[in-house]
Amino acid sequence: MENKPIARKLRLLSQLMELHEENPFKIKSLANAAFKVDKLHFPAAGKTFAELEKVDGIGKSTASKIIELLEKGTMTELDDMLAKTPEGIVEMMGIKGIGPKKVAIIWKDLGIENIGELYYACNENRLVEAKGFGLKTQEDIRNLIEFNMASHGKFLYAKVEQEAKDFLEQLKGIFPDGLIEFAGEFRRYCEIINKLIIVLGCRDQQIAFTTLVQSEVMGEIEPDKNHVKGKLANGLKVEVVCVEKRYFYKELFEQTGDDEHVKAVLSKTVEPIDQPESEDLIYRKSGLEYVQPELREGTTFIERAETNKLPQLVNHADLKGTLHNHSTWSDGINTVEEMALYCRDELKLEYLGMCDHSKSAFYAKGLAIERVLQQHEEIDRLNKKLNGFHIFKGIESDILYDGSLDYPDEILKKFDFIVASVHSILKMDEEKATSRLIKAIENPYTTILGHPTGRLLLSRNGYPINYKKVIDACAANNVVIEINANPLRLDLDWRWHQYALEKGVWLSINPDAHRKEGFLDMYYGILVARKGGLYKERCLNALSLQEIGKFFSQKTSVIRG
Ligand SMILES: [Zn+2]
Ligand SMILES: [Zn+2]
Repeated sequence: MENKPIARKLRLLSQLMELHEENPFKIKSLANAAFKVDKLHFPAAGKTFAELEKVDGIGKSTASKIIELLEKGTMTELDDMLAKTPEGIVEMMGIKGIGPKKVAIIWKDLGIENIGELYYACNENRLVEAKGFGLKTQEDIRNLIEFNMASHGKFLYAKVEQEAKDFLEQLKGIFPDGLIEFAGEFRRYCEIINKLIIVLGCRDQQIAFTTLVQSEVMGEIEPDKNHVKGKLANGLKVEVVCVEKRYFYKELFEQTGDDEHVKAVLSKTVEPIDQPESEDLIYRKSGLEYVQPELREGTTFIERAETNKLPQLVNHADLKGTLHNHSTWSDGINTVEEMALYCRDELKLEYLGMCDHSKSAFYAKGLAIERVLQQHEEIDRLNKKLNGFHIFKGIESDILYDGSLDYPDEILKKFDFIVASVHSILKMDEEKATSRLIKAIENPYTTILGHPTGRLLLSRNGYPINYKKVIDACAANNVVIEINANPLRLDLDWRWHQYALEKGVWLSINPDAHRKEGFLDMYYGILVARKGGLYKERCLNALSLQEIGKFFSQKTSVIRG
C-alpha cells in the first residue's frame, strides 16, 4: 500500500471521529498524522512499528493503526466508525468543502442522510435556517454538489439546457449558412444528458471540420473521423457531427433516435433514401407518420405511427392550472397570496392548488390541524377577492409507514383534493414500498399520488416499486398520478406514462413549487410528459377551472356517498 491511501484512511477516521464528537485532542493529532504520512519521503509500508512511531507527528497510536492497516488491510477503529455512519453521510464527507461539523448538523439536525437529499434541501431552501448556515453556505454547498455531479459526466437536462442552446447559437454564428440542429439525448428531452450531440450540415464537410477544430468553442477538442469531440466549460461532453448539406437530414435522423428506433424505421423503407430533404420524408418513405424526436425511444410508438395513431402531445399552453405547491405555511418562500397572484397575472392560469406539508413532516413545518383550519380561512378570504381565479385547498399528506394518511377523516374531508406522498423511511424493499403506496391509493381521500418513487435524479435512487401494481391500483381507485416537474424528480418516470394511459389513469404535471419561480418547472414536466406520450385529454391540470372543480367534487361525493 502506498502512503496516499493510508493517509486518506487516517483522514477519514479523523473526520468520522469529529462527526461523532470524539475527543478533540485525538482528532487533531490524527489529522496531523494523516498530513504527515501523505508527505513522507519514504513508503510507510515495510517500516516497523518502532520506526514509524519515531517519526515526528505520527506517534504511538497512529503508528499502531498504520501497522494494523498494512497487516490486515483494515483498521478496527475506522470500521467501527463506518458501521455507525450512514453510507450517504460518508459520501457527503468526501465532497471537498463540506467539513464534518457541517455534515453533523446536516445529518443530526436536518435529518438528511445523503447527497441527493442534501441537494434537494438546498433547492428547497431548507439549509438557510440551520445552525451556522445561511444563504451563502447553502449556495456554496449547492455548487459543490453540482460540481461533484458534473465530475461524473452526467447532467440534469435542466442544468445544461441554457449552455447547450448558447453553444448552438455560437455554432450558428460561425456557420451562418450551415444547417445546425441538436440530436441525441438532448433533442429527445432525456432527463439526464451524458453527451450533447449536434449535427452540422455544410457545403464542404472538410472546411467545416477544420474550422471547428481550429475554433475555440470547446475545450479538449479532439477530431474523430467526421466528428469533432470536446467539452463545454461546465464539463459536458459535446460531439459535433459534420456532414455535407445533402446528407444532413439523414444524419440528423440517425443521430436523434435511439438505435432501436432508427433501425426499426429504416427496416421499413422500401426504396433507398440517401439524401432526404427532411426527416419527415424518411418516415413517409417508411410508411410511417412523422415521429416527434422526444418519442424516438425504442419501438413503442412505431406501431402507432404506422396506423396514424400517434398522440397529439400535450403543450405548455394546454395547462390551465397548477396543483401541488407550497407556501410560507410550511416550507415555501412565498405566501399563498403571492403564489396565487403570480399564477393569475404572470402565468395566466385559472387556478392554484395549495398543498403544504402535513403534520408529520416536522422538518418542513408541516401543518398541525389548527393551522390547516387557519389556512382554509385565509384561502376562503383570498378566493373572494381574486376575481374568478381560484385557490383549491389541498395538502401534501405524508404517507405514513403503514400506508395511512396523516390526518383523521374529519380533517381529510375538508380538503378539495389530497396529494399523498412518501417523505420518510425511504429504505424499503419493493414489496413493502408497493404495499405502502397501494394502501394510500386505496384511501378514498387520496386524489393524487405524489412523486411515486421518491427518486432524486443523479443523487438518490427511489425506493423500488412494482410499477404495474401501483398503476393498476390507481386505475382501480380513480387516483391520478403526479408527474413531479422538479427537474431533479420527474417522477412518475416517463417510461411508465404509456402503461398508465393505457389503464385510463390521469396524469398531473405538478411543479411542487416552493416559491414563485418554482412554477416554471412545469416546463420540464411538459418535456418529460411529451416524452412519455401524454396528451391533454388525460392531463389533469389541462382541465379548465370548471372541469377540475367537477373532477374534485365527483371524487369527494363518492366518499360522502
Ligand atoms: Zn413531496
Ligand atoms: Zn411537495
